[in-house]
Amino acid sequence: MQAEIIAVGTEILLGQVADTNSAFIAQELASAGIEVYYHSLVGDNADRLTALVAQARKRSNLVVISGGLGPTKDDLTKQTVAHLLGVKLVEDADAMAKIRDFFVTTGREMTPNNRLQALYLAGSHPLKNQTGMAVGAFYQATDGADVILLPGPPSEMAPMFLHQAMPLVKAACQRQEYLTSRVLRFFGIGESQLVTQLSDLIDQQTNPTIAPYAKRHEVTLRLTAKTTAAATANQLLDQMVATIKDRVGAYLYGYGDDNSLANVVVHDLIDRHLTITGAESLTAGEFQSTIGSVPGVSAVFPGGFVTYANRAKHDLLGIPQDVIDHEGVVSAATAKEMAERSRKLLDTDLALSFTGVAGPDRLEGQPAGTVWLGLAQRGQSPQAKLLHLTGTRADIRMRSVLNGLDWVRRELPSVQK
Ligand code: ATP
Repeated sequence: MQAEIIAVGTEILLGQVADTNSAFIAQELASAGIEVYYHSLVGDNADRLTALVAQARKRSNLVVISGGLGPTKDDLTKQTVAHLLGVKLVEDADAMAKIRDFFVTTGREMTPNNRLQALYLAGSHPLKNQTGMAVGAFYQATDGADVILLPGPPSEMAPMFLHQAMPLVKAACQRQEYLTSRVLRFFGIGESQLVTQLSDLIDQQTNPTIAPYAKRHEVTLRLTAKTTAAATANQLLDQMVATIKDRVGAYLYGYGDDNSLANVVVHDLIDRHLTITGAESLTAGEFQSTIGSVPGVSAVFPGGFVTYANRAKHDLLGIPQDVIDHEGVVSAATAKEMAERSRKLLDTDLALSFTGVAGPDRLEGQPAGTVWLGLAQRGQSPQAKLLHLTGTRADIRMRSVLNGLDWVRRELPSVQK
């Protein structure tokens, strides 16, 4: 629970009275383990008080306000907060009886404004004032933060807060549940396959819940834990992530709503002080553009090649014509040559190459979606991998890039500088 404290009173704002109430309230909240994020001070002004309480209710779970519960004209906290919350003020019978008694015993005439002190927020818990007249309130909200209204005089505020309000605050804390989510991102496994592998977990899900979501070229799982303490939520999530990793960890490339495969690969390269380049045919620069969109990529990517036509493969990379003629442009041999030659030209640790049929027409007798990836690593023979992709031309090009990135991601742990 996150609380904030507001002191109301022009005399405090002007420095005529020191705000000791807020310090007292803050210490009590802190000793109950409740974080206090803001202290504010506002004069006896309805508009400014309204704005301040509205803002506080948006950013905190509990707003504790002291001052302005009395009978005089400048005491407007109750009326202002009631208006803001859209509730009426109702009379507390005990407080009213106490006020009447006071006037009877002292032989004084009770003026109508004294009735104000017995009013509290409808729907809230009235907080008895053991040392004064003005009744306080604990308003438990269904939307936004709870609000506590306390009288200004410290001799009234302190016992009311300690004995009446704090037990209710502690109970509210125990009831409050936190939702903590974690998003797991997968590449290379379809939603139905993922859901099948995790079907028992999904069928039995209670806490955390597991929500699969198929995105354009990947699948995400959102795990959401509901607990009364953030630490417990993280424990529950850690356990579930470990179970999921045991089953489908190879496809799990990262975490978070705003993450991407390119982001994960670029950051892994940065962390490992490794550099990469690319030689692209069917993707025509899309791999380089994708990693280029990650801030900080310049540390690992010096540049690369777009070698769309055979002539460019020969002129820019030096691929021998007979490799293209004998093996074909859509071949393991061409993919390996492209990767290794681009790596050597730019002296990088790694290089990825892409050659294949983006479609819709066939090339060299091979159908659209036939793609060879090449991966070169310093000090090792280049490797090639064949993909059979489906979808539109745009899908095939993007899936080629993502498969290339995923290959690098899987290889990185074993790459030596
Ligand atoms: P009353 O019935 O006495 O008017 P109230 O709830 O309306 O009570 P205020 O009028 O705001 O309270 O304040 C009454 C007095 O209590 C102030 O003049 C001041 O001496 C003291 N007081 C109010 N707020 C604080 C504070 N935050 N810290 C210390 N003293 C305070």
